[in-house]
Amino acid sequence: MSQSKEIFVRLDRCVGCHTCKIACSVEHSKSKNLFEAISEQPTPKTRVYVEWVPPDRKVPILCRHCEDAPCMHACISGAISRTEEGIVITNSDKCIGCWTCVMVCPYGVIGRHLETRKAYRCDRCPDIQSPACVDACPTQALVYRSVAAFSGDVRQDVAREMVSGEGR
Ligand code: SF4
Ligand code: SF4
Repeated sequence: MSQSKEIFVRLDRCVGCHTCKIACSVEHSKSKNLFEAISEQPTPKTRVYVEWVPPDRKVPILCRHCEDAPCMHACISGAISRTEEGIVITNSDKCIGCWTCVMVCPYGVIGRHLETRKAYRCDRCPDIQSPACVDACPTQALVYRSVAAFSGDVRQDVAREMVSGEGR
């Protein structure tokens, strides 16, 4: 059985270019075209955030689709559910804009759309094979892998560093 994939962040690779945010906004636009998306209403929103940690670190943050999702438990209108693929999604037709999910998400990755008055977050780009942010990142700071594959990559990196004597 194949294992489901997650979007992981390689913290050492992000340069803070914000290409992921643009790609996410465009993928969640009606036109799916950068130049048309700029003037669309409602305004397409990014679901990935890039935080600056002084002096010079940049950290992409997005919904972890938690196995035991606080947002899903807290939503009083039943707008948040999990798909068969394990993706935690918000049904905007059911969202009443109470922002309870915003209060309980430990990552701060649920946005408030001021025009629609609905909550939004990463939906893993259901219309395409690989999430737009992952495909757009020029440094491969975002990777779409199973937990086992990602952990294997990290072990390989550590093993190479140990053998070369570089350490971390
Ligand atoms: S929105 Fe926050 S709490 Fe909900 S699944 Fe994503 S990371 Fe977890
Ligand atoms: S596209 Fe990649 S390098 Fe650029 S900000 Fe996003 S995660 Fe960082």
